[in-house]
Amino acid sequence: MNLSSLFRHRAAAVRRRRSARRARLGERGPASIGGTARRVATTDRDELRRWIPSGYRPVRHLGGMLALGVAAELLLAVQFAGRIQPADLWAVPATLVVATLLEYVAHRYVMHVQWRALGAIWDAHTGRHHHYYLEEAPTWERPADVWLILFSLRDVVTLVAIVAGPFAILRAAVPAGSWALAVATSIGFFLGYEALHMAYHLPDGHPALRRRWLAAMRAHHVRHHRLASMHANYGVTTRLWDRLFGTAAAPASARGRAAPR
Ligand SMILES: [Zn+2]
Ligand SMILES: [Zn+2]
Repeated sequence: MNLSSLFRHRAAAVRRRRSARRARLGERGPASIGGTARRVATTDRDELRRWIPSGYRPVRHLGGMLALGVAAELLLAVQFAGRIQPADLWAVPATLVVATLLEYVAHRYVMHVQWRALGAIWDAHTGRHHHYYLEEAPTWERPADVWLILFSLRDVVTLVAIVAGPFAILRAAVPAGSWALAVATSIGFFLGYEALHMAYHLPDGHPALRRRWLAAMRAHHVRHHRLASMHANYGVTTRLWDRLFGTAAAPASARGRAAPR
């Protein structure tokens, strides 16, 4: 066996292992969904809407989340005014790199994998969000449908509890100004993530989608909503990690060539 056939042989073995692993992770389609997700494995929008709490007010949800974020940012500004120096600015790009990577990892390995202890996350994301918003119908029909997109208040509290420990450790490791900028950037990143994700599910032809970059990011995310093969385009705020980790699907014009299936 010469060197090039050895490489081809190896690449084929890696592809086989990857596809067996995807199958094990349950990233296939509604027909094969089981376990904790069985009760939500439907694409019937009326049935999925039953999960939306009665009396749900999307404006209150969005307004509450925005108010909390702005209040936290203001509190930081007041507490750390005068302690932020130009040398602390590195914390902003560093936080964005870490935050976008964590977003990718959490999306790929938590939201799309049926871990026994984290079934509720799979149910909410893959079970409900993906089954409601399909690649061929990615837009909401009524304002209350944003409940099936956004983090709930409980999700936000859980997220804050998860990141509180690492941020407490970071507080002792970096200057106060850098820490404050890292926290402020994280809050801004989370709000930006929610806003972008919501924008991707806006009705077609919405004026916001005239922005070319937003339309391109939306196309990237909508491809991720292909129900039968969701293991591509995990990045919501950036396409960088999909490109680096080989999970970027080819754009629509190049489909059929190298797109992950
Ligand atoms: Zn997803
Ligand atoms: Zn989505």
